[in-house]
Amino acid sequence: MRLAETAWPSVPVGGLVLVPVGSTEQHGPHLPLSTDTVIARAVAERVAAALVPEASGPVLVAPAVEYGASGEHGGFPGTISIGHEALHVLLLEMVRSLTPWAWRVVLVNGHGGNVRALGSAVGQLRGEGHDTGWLSCEAPGGDAHAGFTETSVMLHLAPELVRVDAAVPGDTRPLATLMPELVARGVRGVSPSGVLGDPSGATAERGRELVEAMVADAVRRIAANRADTRGRLLRPVEHP
Ligand SMILES: [Zn+2]
Repeated sequence: MRLAETAWPSVPVGGLVLVPVGSTEQHGPHLPLSTDTVIARAVAERVAAALVPEASGPVLVAPAVEYGASGEHGGFPGTISIGHEALHVLLLEMVRSLTPWAWRVVLVNGHGGNVRALGSAVGQLRGEGHDTGWLSCEAPGGDAHAGFTETSVMLHLAPELVRVDAAVPGDTRPLATLMPELVARGVRGVSPSGVLGDPSGATAERGRELVEAMVADAVRRIAANRADTRGRLLRPVEHP
């Protein structure tokens, strides 16, 4: 159920609300600025559909947060970042305002730069007694930014928004290796195209598999309902 399309008397009290958290930031010359939001929203909607048969109550998907902390992508036209502090406050107030009628809130994140604010805000909210947690849309072996993973996923979810002919390989070093340079010089200083990774060979079919893996991972974390001190939902312990 999409919250934005519902009138208030039809909003079930006591449900689980999923809030996609995205960004508006450059994703290379071939992917739209909304890439992280498109992915977070699609994963949240598929997770809601997967949870409904087993959930003890209703599952709703709230409108996405379309702005995030994207300072490292600031050198590219189109990027709009609200920064860590503003995102922290936005998430705090949003969840506080949701919990009087929702029994649980899970933030479904599509952008790595949002992790700091998610951890600080959700950690604080849990300390205040709110039943909330967050997770990131993750697929095993995914590359950093606007590379094979995100390009494949977007070819599956929104092919009309992908400019396949404009795709170029970017800096393909692993994110952990790149990080000191990214922090010092921003993405533009490391990769003039804005791509970190390599979109070559991306396919919609691979994208479908990646989305399925993201959804399955999210469903497992939500069902396990265990979180670290920063509110990040953990995978279930398979062999305790
Ligand atoms: Zn992204």
